[in-house]
Amino acid sequence: MSTDQTNSIPSVCVTVGDGLAAYGFGHGHPFGPDRLWAFWNRMQAEGLADQVSVVAPHIADVSEIERFHTGDYVARVRAQSQTGAGYLDAGDTPAFKGIFEAAATVVGSVLDAVDALMSGTCRRAFVPIAGLHHARRDAAAGFCVFNDCGVAIETLRAVYGIRRIAYVDIDAHHGDGVYYAFADDPDVVIADIHEDGRYLYPGTGGAEEAGEGPAQGSKLNIPAPPHADDTFFFSAWEQVEDVVKAARPECILLQCGADSIAGDPLTHLRFTPAAHAHAAARLCQLADTYSAGRLLVLGGGGYNRDNLARAWTAVVAAMIASSTSLPSAFAVPLDQH
Ligand SMILES: [Zn+2]
Repeated sequence: MSTDQTNSIPSVCVTVGDGLAAYGFGHGHPFGPDRLWAFWNRMQAEGLADQVSVVAPHIADVSEIERFHTGDYVARVRAQSQTGAGYLDAGDTPAFKGIFEAAATVVGSVLDAVDALMSGTCRRAFVPIAGLHHARRDAAAGFCVFNDCGVAIETLRAVYGIRRIAYVDIDAHHGDGVYYAFADDPDVVIADIHEDGRYLYPGTGGAEEAGEGPAQGSKLNIPAPPHADDTFFFSAWEQVEDVVKAARPECILLQCGADSIAGDPLTHLRFTPAAHAHAAARLCQLADTYSAGRLLVLGGGGYNRDNLARAWTAVVAAMIASSTSLPSAFAVPLDQH
């Protein structure tokens, strides 16, 4: 275990800038371009903005996006980005002029975060406008154009030689775009707490969906009943930790969608930011044990601006606390098997 971290190292990177905020579907839309600033204003108000290393957004190139997505689909997004007309899916995800560049900036910012983690520039990284977990390899879905989670996983494999990856998702919606892309991959371990698909988009993620073929048992879906609160979350979380520990991942991803917080306009869960802070704090500790501290956190959904600001700020606060106070972060050893 590394003991060379000191308080002087900027341990937590956070991506902030207009290029990343631009991924949104217009003012007044639930997924509007004001989401990033709602988060960042709260970071500043709480005095946390000065405790992280701020990273500028960066646009991915097509070859990077195509590590996950099909060439035909990427070309279609580029074409519709020119006209700004129509939808990219059946009616949830409208095109707008420049949507390709905005979506590619989400991907590029996440890839920069991956590189920062792998090169040791940062110990943890948070990209607020990211975690677009519904996009499929060949299609947009549910406000998600490019699946940055999927591109990150493919990049960890192709560029950095990482095999075992844990993907944890506490967004209110099932992360179907990640689940089905890696359903038969035993080395991508997924643990996903979400509102029961019988009551919420996208309708998938039943407990029986545990992976396919050789990957059977490598995925954990925990559907929560509508109105489930922190009592449900903290109980379910124990199962998530068991899955992550068993995986011994070389890198951990967390999609911390704030639409699972009570009061979201699109969902029915009633978690509080304490759930999100707990997930981040525990995954920091598991990352220190298994993956050289590498934890990539993606903001995900969240359509009540106060909720997303509180939840994501709580997540970053937990990341800062676990990254700078070494004695406490390392004091309680996890099982080392
Ligand atoms: Zn969501």
